[in-house]
Amino acid sequence: MGVLMGKDRGLLYVIGLCLRVREKSFLWICFVRWFDMLPRWVWDYVRATAGDGMYAEVRGWRFDVVGSRFRARPSISEVASPCPTKRDVYLRRVLHTYVDSQVLRLGRAVHEVFLLPFRYRGRDIEWLYGMFRRSLKDYADLRGYWKAFESVFRKSLALSMIAEEEQMPISVEPYIPGGAIGLSDFVRPDLMVGFMPIDITLSLGGNSLERKELALAGYALAIEAWSGNPVDIGITIGISINSDVRFQWRVVRIDDSLRRRFIEARDDVARIIEYGEDPGKPSQCLKMCPFREVCGV
Ligand code: SF4
Repeated sequence: MGVLMGKDRGLLYVIGLCLRVREKSFLWICFVRWFDMLPRWVWDYVRATAGDGMYAEVRGWRFDVVGSRFRARPSISEVASPCPTKRDVYLRRVLHTYVDSQVLRLGRAVHEVFLLPFRYRGRDIEWLYGMFRRSLKDYADLRGYWKAFESVFRKSLALSMIAEEEQMPISVEPYIPGGAIGLSDFVRPDLMVGFMPIDITLSLGGNSLERKELALAGYALAIEAWSGNPVDIGITIGISINSDVRFQWRVVRIDDSLRRRFIEARDDVARIIEYGEDPGKPSQCLKMCPFREVCGV
């Protein structure tokens, strides 16, 4: 599987973007000087590699190969869940244990804020800023992160304007049928450009990168089963909000080995749900797992 890191390409772009936002009696002028990667290279890379004759046998329309042996149909987030043994899926789906945590809320907030300008593409900036501010009210407990959220929003807004300018065919959280390949009724990639899935993740370290690749393979298989079009590439956007807000783009080639790993993981999770089997705890639990208290670790 080929993975190309945006940083490795060494591209540096500077965009001066002037946004006029009026709020109450204030007139704000915001200058976004953006030293992050611009996804132009992503699209160039995808275009350059799309016709390289890559061939996968495990296609979503090959129901004899990708069909499930189980009646239980997990979601993609369950197949690619963070717990190494998938005990988190067992707790949720078999024991119906639900937990929330600051990390989960943080991930939800970053997703929401990032997707907002894409979801409402074409609306004026003032309106989008209004929506952004309203969305913050649901995350009052994360006030310490609001500045970072605003930075994510501004960067995403610039990206969505570029996408609009380039007339990219983008869908936000589209409903793709998943039942045909043993998944939940619908699977929903964060973004889809044409038939290429894009998954956003809050970078917190751990095994999140590996999991996101697995999720991309699941989306690719579902899109293939639904559309009949081959999907050889997906993209992850890792968002880190530590000292500085950064987007890290990775182009992931969805080859047979990744597809097979996804199908294996799907069957393992389906078995846990169908037979109510407790898969036990891994030798090392994730530091930020929201189930730590439930699992007693
Ligand atoms: S606490 Fe450990 S065993 Fe329990 S769900 Fe989290 S990672 Fe898995």
